[in-house]
Amino acid sequence: MPEIKYKRILVKLSGEALMGQQAAGIDPQMIDKVAADLVALARSGVEVGVVVGGGNLFRGAGLAEAGLDRVTGDHMGMLATVMNALALQDGLQRQGVAVAVMSGLAMPQVCESYSQRDARRRLADGEIVIFAAGTGSPYFTTDTGASLRAIEIRADLLIKATKVDGIYDKDPVKHSDAVRYSDLDYDRAIDQRLAVMDVAAMILCNDNALDLVVCDINQPGALLDLARGNSVGTRVTRKEAQK
Ligand code: UDP
Repeated sequence: MPEIKYKRILVKLSGEALMGQQAAGIDPQMIDKVAADLVALARSGVEVGVVVGGGNLFRGAGLAEAGLDRVTGDHMGMLATVMNALALQDGLQRQGVAVAVMSGLAMPQVCESYSQRDARRRLADGEIVIFAAGTGSPYFTTDTGASLRAIEIRADLLIKATKVDGIYDKDPVKHSDAVRYSDLDYDRAIDQRLAVMDVAAMILCNDNALDLVVCDINQPGALLDLARGNSVGTRVTRKEAQK
């Protein structure tokens, strides 16, 4: 068996990654596919944490534009991430793995509340832990939630699995000559406002020297390849001089 390079990985799944070809909502086939990739990663010996987004259902900023109070909108967005987390938990359980959902907003009848100590214990026991409700606070994103949870559980790598296969110098959908980076540092990604993650999320990663890889959720075997140390998508690291 090829050697595994990382002990603990946090995978950030955007809400869009769960909607497949649909315009919104959750695609059950996509849940099964993503679950299979996460199970393969866990069975390779990596401790797997997952942060799910909610953009396939609700985003606070969009709701605020439509006239809702922003904090109410963000609460709805965070609840959307819990719905996605429950769907993913269900998909993972059907594939026979132990899994827990831990939410940054307390809802004891639905799932567990987030606790760093319990999360670390469950991961060490081989359970996949899905972190829902982002940071638990409005005005943040699940990208920042992912950076935060990754640092808290002391992940060795943060993977952002999206519908794009990496980070480009300009929007690849609008520009046919857009060039994909294989490696970047956080300073450059922040300075150039490259569409990677929001700045708060990248500052957290940079300050804590946590490597990030952005890759395509639809690329077969991408997560396992990354765990084995192969180059996939775009890797973002802290500048050598700061280390
Ligand atoms: N959200 C929040 N605080 C957090 C994380 C998320 O208020 O810590 C809300 C926010 O409204 C956000 C929504 O939940 O728009 C869904 O998360 P996000 O947009 O990050 O989802 P993704 O783009 O990853 O699908």
